[in-house]
Amino acid sequence: MWNKRHSLSIKLWFTIISAIIISVLFAYSLSQYYYKNLYVKKIKTDLVNEATKLGEDYQGGEITEDFMKRVEWFNSKNDSEVFVVNNPRELSACLPFEIDYDTLISEEERQLLLEGHAIEKEGYEKRFEQNIVAAVIPLMDEARLEGIIYTYIPVDSITDLLRELAARWLVATFLFLIVAIFLMTKWLKKLISPIKDIERAVHRISEGDYNIKLQVESQDEIGKLALAFNEMAQSIYLEEERKKEFLENVAHELRTPLSYVMGYTQAIKDGIVKDEEEKQKYLQLISRETQRLQKLLGDLMDLAKLDSEQVVFRNLPIAFAQFIEEVIAKYEPALKEKNLRLQAELDPDPIILGDDGRIEQILHNILDNSIKYTDMGGTISLSLHQQKDECELIIRDTGRGIPEADLPHVMERFYRVNKARSRFDGGSGLGLSIVKKLVEQQKGQIYIESVAQTGTKVRIVLPTIKDDWKL
Ligand code: ATP
Ligand code: MG
Repeated sequence: MWNKRHSLSIKLWFTIISAIIISVLFAYSLSQYYYKNLYVKKIKTDLVNEATKLGEDYQGGEITEDFMKRVEWFNSKNDSEVFVVNNPRELSACLPFEIDYDTLISEEERQLLLEGHAIEKEGYEKRFEQNIVAAVIPLMDEARLEGIIYTYIPVDSITDLLRELAARWLVATFLFLIVAIFLMTKWLKKLISPIKDIERAVHRISEGDYNIKLQVESQDEIGKLALAFNEMAQSIYLEEERKKEFLENVAHELRTPLSYVMGYTQAIKDGIVKDEEEKQKYLQLISRETQRLQKLLGDLMDLAKLDSEQVVFRNLPIAFAQFIEEVIAKYEPALKEKNLRLQAELDPDPIILGDDGRIEQILHNILDNSIKYTDMGGTISLSLHQQKDECELIIRDTGRGIPEADLPHVMERFYRVNKARSRFDGGSGLGLSIVKKLVEQQKGQIYIESVAQTGTKVRIVLPTIKDDWKL
């Protein structure tokens, strides 16, 4: 019955219908049970009351013809059967049957009657050949049992009543089921349809259509699932867009240097350039563009590696101040060329744990920017300080600065303030995005502050280790 392949709605249907049927059956049996009990109990009390009231007319002494008549009259006017039995030890007359007193009342019951108690009975009575509910009260004269009033009702009338009740139950249940089925169909449809929507959307995603947004109407688990799905679809979509944009950027970055190289080569090949000096100039341009391409490829490779987290970082203790000194020494020619002044104020204490190659790359990309974006005669200053268990490196320049609007984006891939590619300073806009990744890998933070036309301040905070690390 419970098949794995069955749809959710069939399973829910099955569950709900079973629940309804079980509860109806349970309620029915329970009501039958209680009804029967309460009803029978009430009948018994009624019978006792009826008999007791009749018994009140008895004045004691011998049971008179007149009293018997009265009971008989009452019997004819009443639903229940009532009759008086004289004490059979002396008299055997009774109404309406010839009843053997001894079989009607057991010895035990006789004792109870003698003590003046009323008796209630229920069950099959041989004498009347049917199931009855009965009450018997004693007619006492002093301590003598003169006779009894016996009143009873056939149980069949109760069963009839219960049967009628059952029939009504059946009708009500049937109507209830129809209403329930109608409401459930609507309700299940409402419940299941968002799940179907999600299923369809998943199919669309697997076919490469990521721009999907499900309508979320409920706030239950299904609603939350739909919300989570939307979030997932959205992030896949954004990731796809990012990839597309990245590829477009790469293609764009490659196109320009390549077209330069092609153009110059063609010019030389076609013999358009005759002058040896000019030829040399063209060859230099070709070399510059190829270098640019090489750098771009190198940067892209770095980014790919950083993204895939394939790179294995070395974790060496580095005396940071000394390390920085060594790196800036390499920039002397470039600084001289642009007539830039370099100031360094380096605290010798900080020792960082990191990969020397990567740390050098961080410094290189930042210094490269400072030199590139600072005009002749400017100043670049470096300062390094130990602060508790971190160190702070600040690289400041008096260059052209970064406009406020661009500042939040400079660490994005391919982002350049000067969108128009300038052959002189135009990098590909990858430098700082690599720096950001590397600093994060070193568990540090980077902040850039800048004022256009005034200068830029790059602040890097890296965790340090204690001097006694070597122990
Ligand atoms: P790449 O570094 O890949 O050769 P890039 O220098 O253009 O190219 P980033 O280093 O990422 O790229 O810098 C992004 C942009 O931020 C730069 O194009 C430049 O406009 C701006 N920028 C970065 N550093 C400075 C700085 N020190 N002064 C002024 N502008 C800067
Ligand atoms: Mg750069």
